[in-house]
Amino acid sequence: MMGNMVTFFTNKVILEILEKYKPIWSLDHSLAVLGWDSETYMPEEGVEERSISVSQLTLLKQKLLTDPSFISLVDKASDERDLNDYEKGVIRVLMRSIKVYRQLPPKLVEELTKTSEEAKVVWRRSRLENNFQTFQPYLEKIVSLLREAADYLGYKAHPYDALLDLYEEDLTSRDVDKVFDIITPVTKNVLSKILDEKLFSQSHPLEKVSYDVEAMKKVNKIVIEKFGYDPKRFRMDISTHPFTIGLGIRDVRITTRYEGKDFKTSLFSTIHEYGHALYELQNNEAFISTPLASGISLGIHESQSRFWENVIGRSKSFCKVVYPMLKDNLSLVPQYSWEDIYYYFNTVKPSLIRVDSDEVTYNFHILLRYRLEKGLISGEINVSDLPDLWCSAMNEYLGMRPKTHSEGVLQDIHWSQASFGYFPTYTLGNIISAQIRHYVIKELPDFNEHILNMNFTPVKVWLREKVHRWGSTYNPKMLLEKMFGEELNPEHFTTYLREKYLK
Ligand code: MG
Repeated sequence: MMGNMVTFFTNKVILEILEKYKPIWSLDHSLAVLGWDSETYMPEEGVEERSISVSQLTLLKQKLLTDPSFISLVDKASDERDLNDYEKGVIRVLMRSIKVYRQLPPKLVEELTKTSEEAKVVWRRSRLENNFQTFQPYLEKIVSLLREAADYLGYKAHPYDALLDLYEEDLTSRDVDKVFDIITPVTKNVLSKILDEKLFSQSHPLEKVSYDVEAMKKVNKIVIEKFGYDPKRFRMDISTHPFTIGLGIRDVRITTRYEGKDFKTSLFSTIHEYGHALYELQNNEAFISTPLASGISLGIHESQSRFWENVIGRSKSFCKVVYPMLKDNLSLVPQYSWEDIYYYFNTVKPSLIRVDSDEVTYNFHILLRYRLEKGLISGEINVSDLPDLWCSAMNEYLGMRPKTHSEGVLQDIHWSQASFGYFPTYTLGNIISAQIRHYVIKELPDFNEHILNMNFTPVKVWLREKVHRWGSTYNPKMLLEKMFGEELNPEHFTTYLREKYLK
């Protein structure tokens, strides 16, 4: 492996940095194991000791990353000539992390962490009791701390850009505006046609039907086995909110959920997380324990999960080939045809709840949150006005008003976690998955045939070459430009919606 590594990293300063980076990587690796464990098998009362060790390990990481000798080494490397793209990538990634740790005063970070730890607890109760007032002061504090953080981090046009950049390198609110300006009118149009002309149904009887959990586990296993994975490098567990965590390139773990009814939620959670996992698993092995050893951003990551979930998983071809497996294992399926299952997989219905929404209505939920977040950070919106603004935006986009705060402004955990700037990456993922679809079909003309034959190797190889193997070498904008010769292009998403839902 070292021999392999040398061909990617040859500069002496870079090699020295990579050696010094190993303990930092090891802390990240350990934090990932702890994070996975907290969400899966840790007994409830382990939380107190766990939070001590997590914050201590994080502090240790910050100390190593901002150590003056390490920083001067990174600075030195940035002056080196003739660095290759991988070496430049190492410097870019490190400078970004160093910048965040250096520019935010420790006092601010501490206050933000403390406030959001409390806010999460208060948010859970507020949501349960449908009481926005109890959550309001915490959210006000979080917003004011984040506005401060944005000033420390710096931005060109809008303070919200400083926060966006934390989740999606180089993304600005101008980029996000451009995306929504293009997709919103088309999506409105597509949605009203679907509903008016009943092109896709709003519900399906299977959504109410219970399934056998053991049988469903078998289905999920069969499906990802067909997609293909190496059991020595991958595992799947259960959690309420499914997630993927890459402990490294050779140890990637996903979780899925079994709620007992509406089996597609379990199936598509599994397929979604498989898409995330594949990105990590197909990263370049030469990047092990380096700063490049992970997917580049939340948006690009989400494009991988959405590609498998929606472009492949919700396609007619996939429904056709997965149908016999569903029929063999789930007793509730045989009374339906594979076409019925296709419409079950693709119900379209305006919903108050983001996580329950389909691929047509989903982005409206993000647009709403994006506008509110941006306004809060710029100071144009007050926290106290949020519930009303939320209701009127929901009405504007989806023609419905939440009757409770719990199904409105209090539904997501993100704001209590101080994660502002995160939501837009979901829409970015949807857009990029459609962009990738465009190029897959162009470059793999037998794409559909391959799905119909359950042969996923060609598409996996293609994704590896175009996206996965680069790890964090290029920032998201550079990656799109290099691989597809075009920047983020929302037109592919609107084309996808029109083709799938109106034809
Ligand atoms: Mg995801």
